[in-house]
Amino acid sequence: MEGSEGDVTVSLVNHRVDLPEEPDADLQNEESFQHGDKTSYNNVPEPDLGFESLDYDPIFNLVFENSRKDLQSRQLYGYTGLTLAKWSITILIGILVGLVAYLIEMCQEFLLTRKKELTQRIMVNGLMLSFIGFASFSVLLVLVACCLVLFWAPSAGGGGVTLVMAYLNGTDIPEFFQFKTLVTKIIGSICTISSGLMLGQEGPMVHIGAAIASLMTWIHGALPTRKKTQPSHLRRCCKPWQAKALPFDLYSDKDRREFISAGTAAGLAAAFGAPIGGVLYSLEEASSFWSRKVMWRSLICCTFATMVLALVNSWEFSTSLPGSMSFREVQPVFIVRDLPLFLVTSALTSILGVVINSAHAWLAHMRPSSSYKVLRIIEACFVTLISVTVMFVLPLCFGQCMEVPAQKTPSGSTMDRHYWFRYTCPAPNTTAGVHYYNDLATLFFSLPRQNMQELYGMHGDAETEFSIRSLGIHSLSALVLFILAYGIATPGGVFMPAMLVGASFGGFLGRIFQRLLPSAHVQPGLHALVGTAAMLGGFLRASISLVVITVEGFGGVDFILPLIVAIVVSNWVAYHFHDAGAYEADLERIAGVCFLQSEPPRELIAFSAADLMSSNVVCFHEVVTVAEVLKVLQTRRHNGFPVLRHTHSDTSNGGGKFVGLILRHQLLLLLEERAFVEIDPQVLLHTQKYAWENNFSTNMQFLDHAMRIYHHFHYPHHRYLSSRPEALADLGVDEIVGAVNSSNSKPGNVSDDINTTADAPKKVLALDLRPFMNRAPITVRRECSAQRVYIIFRTLGLRHLCVTDSHNKVIGIITRKDIAMAQKQGRLSKDKRFQHW
Ligand code: ATP
Ligand code: MG
Repeated sequence: MEGSEGDVTVSLVNHRVDLPEEPDADLQNEESFQHGDKTSYNNVPEPDLGFESLDYDPIFNLVFENSRKDLQSRQLYGYTGLTLAKWSITILIGILVGLVAYLIEMCQEFLLTRKKELTQRIMVNGLMLSFIGFASFSVLLVLVACCLVLFWAPSAGGGGVTLVMAYLNGTDIPEFFQFKTLVTKIIGSICTISSGLMLGQEGPMVHIGAAIASLMTWIHGALPTRKKTQPSHLRRCCKPWQAKALPFDLYSDKDRREFISAGTAAGLAAAFGAPIGGVLYSLEEASSFWSRKVMWRSLICCTFATMVLALVNSWEFSTSLPGSMSFREVQPVFIVRDLPLFLVTSALTSILGVVINSAHAWLAHMRPSSSYKVLRIIEACFVTLISVTVMFVLPLCFGQCMEVPAQKTPSGSTMDRHYWFRYTCPAPNTTAGVHYYNDLATLFFSLPRQNMQELYGMHGDAETEFSIRSLGIHSLSALVLFILAYGIATPGGVFMPAMLVGASFGGFLGRIFQRLLPSAHVQPGLHALVGTAAMLGGFLRASISLVVITVEGFGGVDFILPLIVAIVVSNWVAYHFHDAGAYEADLERIAGVCFLQSEPPRELIAFSAADLMSSNVVCFHEVVTVAEVLKVLQTRRHNGFPVLRHTHSDTSNGGGKFVGLILRHQLLLLLEERAFVEIDPQVLLHTQKYAWENNFSTNMQFLDHAMRIYHHFHYPHHRYLSSRPEALADLGVDEIVGAVNSSNSKPGNVSDDINTTADAPKKVLALDLRPFMNRAPITVRRECSAQRVYIIFRTLGLRHLCVTDSHNKVIGIITRKDIAMAQKQGRLSKDKRFQHW
């Protein structure tokens, strides 16, 4: 391919393009890399400060503009197919999430119910034997989950909601949405929940929904690909890619964010059978960016997830029970005069939520770190053993044998038959039709949603299914077991256990009120419901979404008033102990995650952009030698570099006008693609003089090549490539350095690819950043208030914000880490903040 424009030569790997050549005599002695040279580099990159940020701000570059024009020209009657593809993917995500939710629910129910039946059967041969059988099976399940997490997919540990929140806020979590993480999360949650640990599947379902959504957006990248023309040793670090087979792509960070928000909503919706609740949860808790479009996408996704779940459930059980929370059969009656007692229940239960938060924070420092894998495994097995022991010993010592209520005899529905647990109680008297159960054992051994259904159904009669003592013991022991299990290295969420503890404790308080105030006609079932809401309010600071999830569970708005009271009171009470709920507190604890809250912190009010920014910014010129790029990439870990343009006036003070921003992964890709220009070093000083921009917009050959490279920019692989220190080695960087050196020492023999003659002027290999750099990055002036900087960052989802002076010269750069650090410092101590700057 040959292209000619003016009289200077640019080679694109081995293609030559002409460009004007004569350098300006006044500028011959200028340094070509002034900003970079100001900083003294040593050869050791700075330590990694944590996870990288996502680029939610679109890159407006020359190639992007041309690729959009290209897209316009290929549309059919104004329709590109992009909208259809996006909605199809949304529906597909919903269907898959519904199916996975069903799988988890069924496996968990099957394993737990069988375990319970088997325990009962073995108990004839002795309690110890059934304990050993139960405990070893539980430990085995936890071992499987724990080993999968620790040795295969570490980011599948825990509930996952916090990291989904971090991702949607703009922090990239490596491997978090990979297929192996998804598989580990599914298998791990089934094992963990079936083991009897106090953990639930709702948090994992949120992660699973988000991971399915993320993987679906990669469909485009997985389609049949065009063969790459690059050496085989490079191919292993970059999967094959296709250039223009489809007129769109879905994996810009901004697009993926929308799908992940929808997947998150669908995950929760499927877990609770509450489509509107799922959408509201995604809006209220998980997503940091929201729009009408995201709302519609989430709603459609949630509707399909719950519909699929209801459909497969009804085939299986001839019931329309969707999700794990449906209390349509339970109907206590709400009377307004109960409200004062609800205030007491809400306040006391929310204190339990605060206790969980404080204990978890305290225990987090005591737990072994994930690098001690064996200790983590021992910890998980130990917690499982304690849980199983408590489940066996407490019912034996404190459980009460009661008669199964007449309307709920084992001849009743499937659920009733499996629910009541005899444990060590007398055998049923079949002639009288009396069946016995141990109330505490029933609470410990049953599925949480079955327990909640029974707890909410507790009526106003003096004697209900559970004794006061059993409810008290169950709520407090479940609280301790939950605190121990919350933080071990297995997948498992906190939503359902917190609800169960709240329901049990609320029911306990209701039974006490019933005893103390016999004339008040207290309904313990309603107190259990209020306790559930208050626990989530105090522990997670959830609000509207929680009300809607519960209302959807009951299939009516009868209890909306007590629920709102519970949530307002619990949030208010908990606020006096901790500023943040469990998710926010966890986010602060995870090293390297910079979570920006929706409002700027008050402490920033007295500061300006100049206080936040890092000065001594490493910049590039528009056309920069490969050697300089390599030098910076090898010694610096930054991901964004301002691009400067030399002008005659700038050269006197050593600066350059700020014209764009180039990202590290773009540079790596240009190196990998060998998108070099061969150039006289003098030309580097006069980029503006030769008006190259014109050349590129007219030189279609270059643009075509650049566009193919641009498609590559979206390939998510490059994000991970750039974060790894060995990335440059993978790119065959030595080879490039060798080529550059030989080009400098032996003019005219850069490589076999480049046709130069022995008497040609000395040339160097350079990168032309102009078609690729973001030509419209957002900047602020140094006087801009720090709170405003925060709002710009948070609302636009920025990664880099350049600070410029009145001459459009870069004087500083602000990243998410600078803001998060300021936020943290401000909170820690007013005197000490910013001292590290
Ligand atoms: P991220 O890691 O979030 O993707 P990044 O690597 O570009 O972005 P950070 O890791 O957040 O940036 O940067 C760490 C510190 O380096 C911050 O204080 C930031 O201001 C500073 N910094 C970022 N880019 C540059 C640069 N080009 N020159 C000098 N300092 C920079
Ligand atoms: Mg960084």
